[in-house]
Amino acid sequence: MCFSGEKDPYQKARIITILSLYVLLWLLIPLAFKVQVPILGGEWGSFPAIHTIGSLTFFIYMGIVLLFGKRVDCGWCCPCVTARETIGYPFRDKTPRNGLWWKLRHLKWLTLSLLVVYLAFMIIDAGTAYNRAGKFYYDVVTYGYYASFLLIPLTGNRNFCRVLCPFAALWGVLSVAGLYRIKAKKEECIACGKCDRVCDMGIPVARLVREKGEIRTIECMGCGRCVAVCPQNVLSFYSAAGILKNLFYKFIKR
Ligand code: SF4
Ligand code: SF4
Ligand code: SF4
Repeated sequence: MCFSGEKDPYQKARIITILSLYVLLWLLIPLAFKVQVPILGGEWGSFPAIHTIGSLTFFIYMGIVLLFGKRVDCGWCCPCVTARETIGYPFRDKTPRNGLWWKLRHLKWLTLSLLVVYLAFMIIDAGTAYNRAGKFYYDVVTYGYYASFLLIPLTGNRNFCRVLCPFAALWGVLSVAGLYRIKAKKEECIACGKCDRVCDMGIPVARLVREKGEIRTIECMGCGRCVAVCPQNVLSFYSAAGILKNLFYKFIKR
C-alpha cells in the first residue's frame, strides 16, 4: 500500500480507520440501505452528510467538533482525504513550510464565506438557494478540490485542506472555540524542530510551543504526528475525550 512505509502504529490505525470508514459510510451503507437524510427546506443528501450544508448530520457534527476537535473529521474520517492519505502519502515531504504558504491558509475564509452565504439562502428560501449561491459554491470547491490533486506531487498531500477547504475553516473555528488543543510542556522543549517537519498542515509547531505553550490553531487536523515524534514528550492531546477518561478513572476508583 502507498502508506506501507508508515512506522507509527497510531498513524497506521488512523489511516486504516479513514479507509474503513470511507468504505463503510460512503459505499456499503448507502448502497445497502439507500440511506438519505433531510436537509433544511426539504432537499435531500446522502449518508452521513457531514459535508452537506444544512443537513441534520452537518449540525450534529458541529457539536462533535466542539467537543473533540477538528480531528474527528479531518484526522480520522473525512472521505476527501482517503486518496490523499494513501496515494498522496509518498508526497508528504513536499509539503511547503514557508511564510507564503502560511499566509495562503487564509484563502479558505473565502470558501467558508461562500458556504455561509449558501446556508443563509437555504434558510431564507431553500427552493432557490442552489441557483442563487449553491452552484457557485460547489463549482469553486469541487474544481479546486480536483485541481489540487494534480498539484500533490509539488505541494504535499494536504494542499486542499491547508488552503481551500471551507470545512477546514469551519471545523477549525469550532475546534479552537471548543475543548480541543495540544498541550505543551514548553520548558522541556529542546527546539529540535522534528514536530515542524512531520506536520502535513505546515504548522510551525515548535514556534507555537515556544510562544503559546500549546497548539491551538484552526489548522491542526489532529493527526498526532507531532505528538508521536517529539523526543521529549512535550506534546499531548487534550479534548472532551481526556475529560471523559479522567471522569471514568475517578468513577472506577471510588
Ligand atoms: S480540511 Fe476539508 S478536505 Fe481536508 S480533511 Fe478536513 S474536511 Fe476533509
Ligand atoms: S500540529 Fe501535530 S497534530 Fe496538528 S496537524 Fe500538525 S502534526 Fe498533526
Ligand atoms: S519535537 Fe518536541 S522537543 Fe522538538 S521542537 Fe517539537 S516540541 Fe520541541
